[in-house]
Amino acid sequence: MQEKGTISIHTENIFPIIKKFLYSDHEIFLRELVSNAVDATQKIKRLSSLGQYNGELGELRVEVAFDKEAKTITISDRGLGMTGEEIKKYINQIAFSGATEFMEKYKEAKDANEIIGRFGLGFYSAFMVADKVEIESLSYQEGAEPAHWTCDGSTEFELSEGSLQERGTEITLHINKDSEEFLDKYKLQQILDKYCKFLPVPIKFGTKTETEDDGVDEKGEPKYKTIEVDNIINETNPIWTKSPNELKDEDYLDFYKQLYPFSEDPLFWIHLNVDYPFNLTGVLYFPKLKNDFEVQRNKIKLFSRQVFITDEVKDIVPEFLMLLHGVIDSPDIPLNVSRSFLQADSNVKKINTYITKKVADKLADLFKADRKSYEEKWSDIGLFVKYGIISEEKFYEKAKDFVLLTNTKNENFTLNEYKDKIAPEQTDKDGQLVYIYTNDPAKQDSFIQSAGKKGYDVLLMNSPIDNHFIGHIEHKLEKTSFKRVDADVADKLIKKEDAPETVLTEEQITKVKDIFNKAINKPAYKVELESLSPDELPVTITMDEFMRRMKEMAAMGGGMGFYGNMPDNYKVIVNGNHKLISRILGEENEETQAALSKQAFDLALLSQGLLTGAELTEFVNRSVNLI
Ligand code: ADP
Repeated sequence: MQEKGTISIHTENIFPIIKKFLYSDHEIFLRELVSNAVDATQKIKRLSSLGQYNGELGELRVEVAFDKEAKTITISDRGLGMTGEEIKKYINQIAFSGATEFMEKYKEAKDANEIIGRFGLGFYSAFMVADKVEIESLSYQEGAEPAHWTCDGSTEFELSEGSLQERGTEITLHINKDSEEFLDKYKLQQILDKYCKFLPVPIKFGTKTETEDDGVDEKGEPKYKTIEVDNIINETNPIWTKSPNELKDEDYLDFYKQLYPFSEDPLFWIHLNVDYPFNLTGVLYFPKLKNDFEVQRNKIKLFSRQVFITDEVKDIVPEFLMLLHGVIDSPDIPLNVSRSFLQADSNVKKINTYITKKVADKLADLFKADRKSYEEKWSDIGLFVKYGIISEEKFYEKAKDFVLLTNTKNENFTLNEYKDKIAPEQTDKDGQLVYIYTNDPAKQDSFIQSAGKKGYDVLLMNSPIDNHFIGHIEHKLEKTSFKRVDADVADKLIKKEDAPETVLTEEQITKVKDIFNKAINKPAYKVELESLSPDELPVTITMDEFMRRMKEMAAMGGGMGFYGNMPDNYKVIVNGNHKLISRILGEENEETQAALSKQAFDLALLSQGLLTGAELTEFVNRSVNLI
């Protein structure tokens, strides 16, 4: 029995195109063929358990072997097998129509990258690396004859009697010249590790060599034996397929180590498990965050029925959780489509919402169950929570109860607790609550001290997203504004009715301004006189909150724009009620007067780290003279 035929399709030159456009992802041929072998194995198991197959199951494993000499890679299984008719139906027609559909998609896609690696090409992906593909198969069905199929990548195929003695399928790829890199133990091992590490059927990996004795079988075909190198390479029951109550903390930690061998232990994890309205399992870990966020992105691995698909989960996991690590497995995520379609997919949207909710619930639980340990982890969790609050309204609704504000004394408060704490001292004359913060406690120390003297609390806001977080929270909370501690002198940070009276006359004020303007002689510094309490510093330098934020935003956006182009403008606030100012006014010698003013100004610069270089040297020399 021998049959030759033509695979009926319209595009004659499908293979050159497949080869060309899937270039970057050639290795997926192995994933496709091994998953087919696994599927066939699962199917025979099912048939057997349903009583539709009563023969021996045998050792259900998938074997991957290669022969460097013969330039072949073989994938064999003990699955349900195919008859000659089935090969014609499934491989010639169905599989081919999959490949043809791929071609259609490719024509529509604006960008070849949209489809590369997303489109499971199935069986025909073998032709990305092989000149010729052979199938040997023996169906489980009673009385089935073994079949042999070959195809050289053209639309011609050949079907003849096969030689398999045992039920199952053996696919042999005759590797083409450009793909010889795959005839390598380490390369294959690496691909199997990437895609097949958690497949549900044991995968054996080995080298194939011809037998030494007769070398050929009855039909004159070379006879092979498999030498196992590493035996089983996969873990058939990874933790995400198990139920959480079967698992201990060590199991989760071990799995984490297995996925990310060089990472520190994670802070905690969430076991995902839904089957309605979509199917999804997985474990997501909260890592200890390092400062280099970019390196830590794309660490979540996406699987479909335990086959690794990708570690680009951008559209499935909410943006703010991209720093999480772990595994998601869902057969309901469409993989064969372009990105824009994925974003619009309703399952993907539901999955996104589900993950957000699970994460919020987990954090709420941790907060309630053990606040102390939650606070200890806050420096790591805080970033996720703040990022989530900014980017997802639904997340904010839950997170507003467990987001923490930390002050310079390292005390933590929820939003409500903090509001109650500061309301008595930090409400201004219009009933607005003023939250005071620092982004650099060392540099702003003198301001923090002054605020402290007035009974104000100062929040620490020095994480990379705190600027955005502040903007967001200010908008959410009613009658609330945030002010950086150096936005004004402490007396003026919160406008209250009872400002101290100035001791100076109008004339004296003008005179003090004159003296200081001359002594400083810099257009970026504008001198103003304020009547502050006598124990405040004589001179303070501030930058307006609004102006500073606008400049920061312009800088972050990269573009300079109107505010970005503005020079830095500082206010020099002279405390008219300070003893030193009276002394300067009373000083007869103009030189001394200028020196004292300059000295007070430089001290203010110094306390904010603004005094450097030649000016610093001059200040030191002047100070020595004054002593
Ligand atoms: P898909 O797996 O997406 O259906 P493929 O092109 O990979 O598409 O395979 C087409 C069909 O060929 C499969 O659905 C299956 O019926 C059959 N097939 C492929 N490989 C095997 C195998 N190892 N054993 C049994 N049947 C197989």
